[in-house]
Amino acid sequence: MNCCVNCFKDREIQAVIKNMQLQGNCDICASKAVYIQPLGSESTLRDNFDVLLDVYTPEDNLPEEYPEIFLDHLENHLCYEWSIFNLTPEQVVQFLMALYPGSDDSRAPLLVHKVGILEKDDESYLQENSIVGNSSWDAFVEAIKFQNRFFSYGINNSVLQPFLNLVKKTYKKGTILYRARIAPSANGFAIDKMGAPPRDKATSGRANSEGISCLYLSDSEETTLHEARVGEYDFVSIAQFEAIEDVEVVNIALLSEISPFWGSDITQLAVNLSNFKRLGNEVAKPMRRHDSPLDYLPTQYLCDYIKSLGHAGFEYRSAMNKDGSNVAIFYPEKFRCIHVSVFDIQSLEYKYDKLS
Ligand SMILES: [Zn+2]
Repeated sequence: MNCCVNCFKDREIQAVIKNMQLQGNCDICASKAVYIQPLGSESTLRDNFDVLLDVYTPEDNLPEEYPEIFLDHLENHLCYEWSIFNLTPEQVVQFLMALYPGSDDSRAPLLVHKVGILEKDDESYLQENSIVGNSSWDAFVEAIKFQNRFFSYGINNSVLQPFLNLVKKTYKKGTILYRARIAPSANGFAIDKMGAPPRDKATSGRANSEGISCLYLSDSEETTLHEARVGEYDFVSIAQFEAIEDVEVVNIALLSEISPFWGSDITQLAVNLSNFKRLGNEVAKPMRRHDSPLDYLPTQYLCDYIKSLGHAGFEYRSAMNKDGSNVAIFYPEKFRCIHVSVFDIQSLEYKYDKLS
């Protein structure tokens, strides 16, 4: 039985399969004439999946008091917590059965029973290896908002730092990004008014505390229009900003997609995946009109930490424009405004849910 390059999102696994230079049809996702990989005990994918599956323990071998909430079937863990497969859980079972054929295989019990990660319920392990220690993201938010702002111990920075290094991204010199401002008239804003606000006008934002200037840019005109929350009949100035040098940022959204096959400690990565997902959502979360500036504190803390490590900014998903992304640049002088246009917003499309 063969799997193929299209069965996977994970680039490491895709590379392993492509390196085999073997073409054919996939028995799992039904792709035709693609790079394939034969499964079974001789498969080169065994090395990769052996170390990943070692992280999991069948329910019967876990302590009796192990929390039910951490237990699930292996295929569900692999499909919903990791970004490895382009397959359904049923197809993942098919893949694993073919990779580990025979009920005498030592990994067979993992495919039958629910499984869990022992360390997820080990307080001393979590204290050392989770970015929130043996606490939770919610406890960190509560502490930084209402208990201790400047000496928060909620985030295990020494654990977070190596992961941030895995999601670095460079905007090459000459890259164009966009920023919009709602203008008072059809004249729009002059080019020198489109940059980051000066420190005396810098209000608190997702990535900056009040008084700290930060340049918020988007990947497209459309994303920046969404982010500026323009209204019907608004005039909007959209500026193009060009990177004047290579600018290195970290991409928060990619933390939860780090490959288990990159050689880092898989157990440590596994216990942090849910925190990384939470962090990515928190950073991208749209703020509502009546939200408190205190709600920005957790992300401001993270940004100050990222800045202290020498990174020039951080990228995050746009919650306002699907597939769009934004970047907060801590050093606005790394981009220069090269052009500005004025737009007249003709109409908007409202999407809403009825709540009561
Ligand atoms: Zn396939």
